[in-house]
Amino acid sequence: MSSYTVLNPATEQPVTTVPGTSAEETDAAIERARSAQRSWRAVAPGDRARLLRAFAAAVDAAGEELAQLEVANSGHPVSAARWEAGQLRDVIAYYAAAPERLTGKQIPVAGGLDVTFNEPLGVVGLIVPWNFPMPILSWGLAPALAAGNAVIAKPAELTPLTAIRVGQLALEAGLPEGVFQVLPGKGSVVGQRLVDHPGVRKIVFTGSTQVGKQVMTGCAQQVKRLTLELGGKSANIVFADSDLERAAATAPYAVFDNAGQDCCARSRILVEKSAFERFMELLEPAVKGVRVGDPASPDTEMGPLISAGHRAHVASYVPEGSPVAFAGHQQAGPGYWYPPTVLAPVSFTDRAYREEIFGPVVTVTPFSDEAQAVELANDTPYGLSGSIWTRDLGRAIRVSRGVEAGNLSVNSHSSVRYWTPFGGFKQSGLGRELGPDALDAFTEVKNVFMASD
Ligand code: NAD
Repeated sequence: MSSYTVLNPATEQPVTTVPGTSAEETDAAIERARSAQRSWRAVAPGDRARLLRAFAAAVDAAGEELAQLEVANSGHPVSAARWEAGQLRDVIAYYAAAPERLTGKQIPVAGGLDVTFNEPLGVVGLIVPWNFPMPILSWGLAPALAAGNAVIAKPAELTPLTAIRVGQLALEAGLPEGVFQVLPGKGSVVGQRLVDHPGVRKIVFTGSTQVGKQVMTGCAQQVKRLTLELGGKSANIVFADSDLERAAATAPYAVFDNAGQDCCARSRILVEKSAFERFMELLEPAVKGVRVGDPASPDTEMGPLISAGHRAHVASYVPEGSPVAFAGHQQAGPGYWYPPTVLAPVSFTDRAYREEIFGPVVTVTPFSDEAQAVELANDTPYGLSGSIWTRDLGRAIRVSRGVEAGNLSVNSHSSVRYWTPFGGFKQSGLGRELGPDALDAFTEVKNVFMASD
C-alpha cells in the first residue's frame, strides 16, 4: 500500500495523505524496536517514570491540537475529542507512577531467598480500531512502556492522524528513538506482520470479534501473549422502581455517544413491562433532543459515522418497513450522517436485536421479571458492559452478579475509568486493560531462588 487519503467524515473532504507502511518497513521497525527495548528496560525506574511524565506533559500541551485533529479525522464532537485527548494524557500520567512501584514478591521458602521479578515482554504490537483512536492507543501504550517494553502501534486505516502526532510528541518529550513507533497502514499488512513476526512478543488487539479471532489464531502459532478487546451488544436494564425520568433522559447517550460507534454502547434497552409505556413516552423527547450536527461546535453531542461504507452497514439494520418507534435529527448535506433511531417492537431473532450495529440504532424490549431481565441480557455471545436502573439495592446486587459482562454500572452509564479494570466476558475479549493491575498484562513473572548455604 502506498500513501492514501484520509477523509473528514463530516464533510467528505480530504484532510491529508498518509503513507501506508509495507511489510518490509514493518519488519525494519520491529528490529529497531527490539534494539531500543534492550536499552529501555535498562533505564532506571525513576528515569523511565520521569520520561513518561514528560510525555504526559507534552500530550497535555498539545491537547487542543490533538482534539482538533480528531474532529477533522473522526468527526467526533469537539467536546468529546477534548475529553479523549485528556484521557490519553491522564492514562500516561497514571502509568508514569508504575515503573517506581513495579515490585515483585519475597516468598518464604526453606534454604534460601525466593524473589519474583516482573520482567518486560519485549516488543508489544498495539492494533487499534477507528472508533476511539486516542483512548484505546493509551490503554496499551502507557502500561506497556511503563513496564519496560517497546511499542509499535498500528492505528486504523481510517483514523491514523492523532496516533502519528502522539508518536512525534513521545520523541519531543525525550523518549528514546524506537521505543514507541507508529506505523499507519493496512491491517492485512502491518497488523498481520505484527501478529506473525516472532520478534513481537505480545499483541493488544482492539477491534471486531471477527478479526480478533484471526489474530488469536495467528498468535497461537507462537504462543504469543494476547489481549483482545472485541465487540459488544450490551443491555441497559430498566426496572419499574427506578428513577424512570433519569433512566430515559440518559439512555440515548449510553448508546448514541460517538454515534453509537462504541464497543460499550447499551444498544439493547430492556424495560420492565409495567413501566414500558411510560419509559417510551419519556425516551422520545430525549432522543429527539440529542444535538446532532457540526462536530466543531461545542454544543454538538453527536457527529457523523466514520465512513460511507459504515453508514451503509448501519442502514442495513433498518431496512424499509422496520419498526422505527421514533428517530432523532437527520443532518442534511455532505457527511456520513445517520439519525439516532429507536426500534420497537423487535423480535428476539431480528438482526438488529442480536448483532453489534456500531451505529446510532437501539432496540427497546419489555421483560416481565428480574429473572427474565438477566436471561435476556445474557442471551448474546458478547459480554462487555451494561447498566442496571433500580432503587432496590438487593436487586442491584443480584442483577450485577447475574449479568455476564466485564463492566457494569448501576443507576449510571459509566464510560471507561482508567483507574478500574476494563474488558469483556465471552466473545467480547480476553484479559483486562487499565486499573492498578494493567502491568500484569505486559510483564512475565520470573521466580528466582538463591540458596543461602
Ligand atoms: P476491525 O476489526 O475491522 O479493525 C481493528 C484493527 O485491526 C484495525 O487497525 C485494522 O486495520 C486491524 N486489522 C484488520 N485486519 C487485520 C489482520 N488480519 N491482522 C491484524 N490486524 C488487522 O475493527 P474496527 O471496525 O476498526 O473497529 C470496530 C470494532 O472494534 C467493533 O466491533 C467494536 O466493538 C470493537 N471495539 C472494541 C473495544 C473494546 O474495548 N472491547 C473498543 C473499541 C472497539
